[in-house]
Amino acid sequence: MAYDKPLPRPTPLSQPFWDGAREHKLLLQRCQSCGAYRFTPQALCRECYAEEYEWAETSGRGKVYSYTIVYRPQTLTFMDDVPYVLAVIELAEGPHMLSNVVGCAPSDVHIDMPVVVQFEDATDEITLYKFRPAE
Ligand SMILES: [Zn+2]
Repeated sequence: MAYDKPLPRPTPLSQPFWDGAREHKLLLQRCQSCGAYRFTPQALCRECYAEEYEWAETSGRGKVYSYTIVYRPQTLTFMDDVPYVLAVIELAEGPHMLSNVVGCAPSDVHIDMPVVVQFEDATDEITLYKFRPAE
């Protein structure tokens, strides 16, 4: 079935992130001056303001920093998904990502729960990243 929900629109800055996702790799910008990872994609390092960075593959691992269980989505497009978990994931590399926790009952999600990235190919161009409980 064709994916019928809103999709990200990559920009020149974020395109490498989405290219990585398509290959089922979670890439983040890593500052070549201080080594800090960052997300969302930014032109400058948030720690030291250096411009030089590389795209580095991450472990895809993290933990639930915060979450909510959605029963009334912002748009009807997501009505079939409720209840679902909208979460802030703290990656092992440091940055936080807004995502979903899937693969378990929403009531099983808890703060500090270890999670690992899971990719979902939405279209030929866009692969979405979600997180599921780590083994
Ligand atoms: Zn830096």
